Amino acid sequence: MRRESFKKLSLRKIIRPLSIALLLAVLLLSVHPTFSAALNAKSAQRSSPYVSDPASFSKLELPFSPFIFVFAHQDDEIAYFAMMKKLVERGHHIKILWITDGGASAPPDIRRKESRDALSLIGIKEDSLIFWDYPDGKSIFYPVEIVDRLTVLMRRIKPRALFVPAYEGGHPDHDFAHFAAVTAAMRMKHPPDIFEAPLYNRYNTSIVAFNQFIPAETPTLYTYMTRCEVFLKFRAFLTYRSQFWGTVLPALIFGGPRLFDPKEPYRKKPSWNYLNPPHEGELYYESFPLKCTLGITFKDFAEAVRKVLSARQQ
Ligand SMILES: [Zn+2]
Repeated sequence: MRRESFKKLSLRKIIRPLSIALLLAVLLLSVHPTFSAALNAKSAQRSSPYVSDPASFSKLELPFSPFIFVFAHQDDEIAYFAMMKKLVERGHHIKILWITDGGASAPPDIRRKESRDALSLIGIKEDSLIFWDYPDGKSIFYPVEIVDRLTVLMRRIKPRALFVPAYEGGHPDHDFAHFAAVTAAMRMKHPPDIFEAPLYNRYNTSIVAFNQFIPAETPTLYTYMTRCEVFLKFRAFLTYRSQFWGTVLPALIFGGPRLFDPKEPYRKKPSWNYLNPPHEGELYYESFPLKCTLGITFKDFAEAVRKVLSARQQ
């Protein structure tokens, strides 16, 4: 017994400083000029030469209609952190909806508080936030209800642009938030511009790729960040304390400095066919370890899509 507790104690003594050292290393590498310049050059080679800035949105008509962001979980918003900051700075009104309660990995009230805290760093207030409470990991089991509720919301808000997680096979809730919001938006008389941003996927990698698009016909666009904004995004990312072991640390390990690239990627939604998987090969949520915790396959996702497509529109 004594030896076991001694072992546990020593293990804890090792893991904590190691995690802190890793975090510091990633932060230093992200902001180090030589390293980030090298990374930028590398990612510029990989991505499309087409570059745009969200400032162009201010030239759109309907100046008082908001931008809406639809997510599955309370931390998905990190994908659009710089975009949200720039829109708020320019005085635009934004709405952010989370479809699930995020309760699979921590109590829902803690997840909501973490999102509120992260977004308060860029001046986003409570009246911009909408929390629904569908069970985390199970949104595909309420397909028609969620799409109908989103349709009512879209028609009320009349957004000028919709931002969703990319369709990428990372998590079925992400893909369903994407599909449901896109479907609701397309039911509007004047559908908004629709954009997607990557979280994580298994395209072209044996483990997981963070913050990288699956190739598609629409060019990658970027929201540019200053070094201070990159640092702010890093601070926001550490706000999701309940997700440290499950998301934050894996993202830092596998996404590394790329996660805090001063170019935050997004693009106009490609013309996905949601009855087909987003890419060939194994989807991330169908692979270990997510397949053990979620137990959802692409067949289940496609079934939810089919139900929405065959349901009578509200
Ligand atoms: Zn998520």
